[in-house]
Amino acid sequence: MTDINQVKEWRRVFHRYPEVSYAEFETTKRLRKILEEHEIKIVDYPLQTGLVAEVGQGEKVVALRTDIDALPILEQVDSEIRSSAEGVMHACGHDIHMATILAATMELKAREAELPGRVRILFQAAEEVGSGAQQMVEAGVLDGVKAVTGFHNDPTLKVGEFAIKSGAMTSAVDRFAIHIQGKGGHAAKPEESNDPMIILGQLMTSIQSIVSRNVSAFDSAVVTIGEVSAGNTWNVIPDQAYMQGTVRTFNAATRAKAEERLQDLCAGIAKAFDANIELEYIHLPNAVINDEALTEKAVEAAEETGYSVQILGEPKTIGEDFSALSDTVPGVFAFIGSESDYDLHHPKYQPDERILETAPDYLVKLIQKLF
Ligand SMILES: [Zn+2]
Ligand SMILES: [Zn+2]
Repeated sequence: MTDINQVKEWRRVFHRYPEVSYAEFETTKRLRKILEEHEIKIVDYPLQTGLVAEVGQGEKVVALRTDIDALPILEQVDSEIRSSAEGVMHACGHDIHMATILAATMELKAREAELPGRVRILFQAAEEVGSGAQQMVEAGVLDGVKAVTGFHNDPTLKVGEFAIKSGAMTSAVDRFAIHIQGKGGHAAKPEESNDPMIILGQLMTSIQSIVSRNVSAFDSAVVTIGEVSAGNTWNVIPDQAYMQGTVRTFNAATRAKAEERLQDLCAGIAKAFDANIELEYIHLPNAVINDEALTEKAVEAAEETGYSVQILGEPKTIGEDFSALSDTVPGVFAFIGSESDYDLHHPKYQPDERILETAPDYLVKLIQKLF
């Protein structure tokens, strides 16, 4: 295995120089340089950012994926490796993922002669905006691939803990935005206007009935309104209002149902209040569905690594665009403990680097089982 200090150093450099989705130009260059220095073959695919490498030989191909992008967050951790890019931070730990996958790649390279096929290593851009994995699929990176794997660091787990389940592992993520157009006027003459503020209130309440009244007690979903805005002073009825939020679901039927109810509520309330309501509904990543047989292999590899393995009872409500890969070929995705007081996407997120001591070993063990 690569010296742990080297692995930590890779992670620290990535942490210091984060780049947001689709702007990972320097990160891509840095990865390319490290891979070339270790004589790892880079395979050409039409990608603006991110890259693909391969080790091994033969016809069978399995894939290993890391994401490489950071978030538009101002880091609040005071450390030597604090982000040098103001307002950009590796707050989702993709720096940890890159260093781990690099270390696994070096180890697979060292064992290249024993590999029964090729490992295609995917350094994927733009996970945070939910479209990078799909773009890689369209570029053909999974052509001929038998199985794909990857992982996410999980600050809610201690270092040495590992969590997984067969079937749905994360949720499908949708985003909605609602534009309400009413008729503004003087605050003292409401009868001459059509107040979008009241419509906004009706919508906020009605939308909460999707989960409570339209989703079975044996299924689950989340609908959250994250932003509302309307008006800017006390004595004017505004002419517009706006809200946006997210829907998280775990199966296609509930996903479709939630979207349909949102459309019906917007149409019904628009009619009831004689206003114009426009709904924008955007499908972001599907749920990651872990293949059953591959999940067993991942559990075996985790146990051999010495991890304390938890089989999750239910999926997580976070989104992960790995689903674009695992919707295309069988896949398995796990959570590995990175213990932090603050959660992913928090400006004080600070993963425990000891995750780097074992995660590469787990991936090397799993990859060999995937052929
Ligand atoms: Zn994230
Ligand atoms: Zn992430």
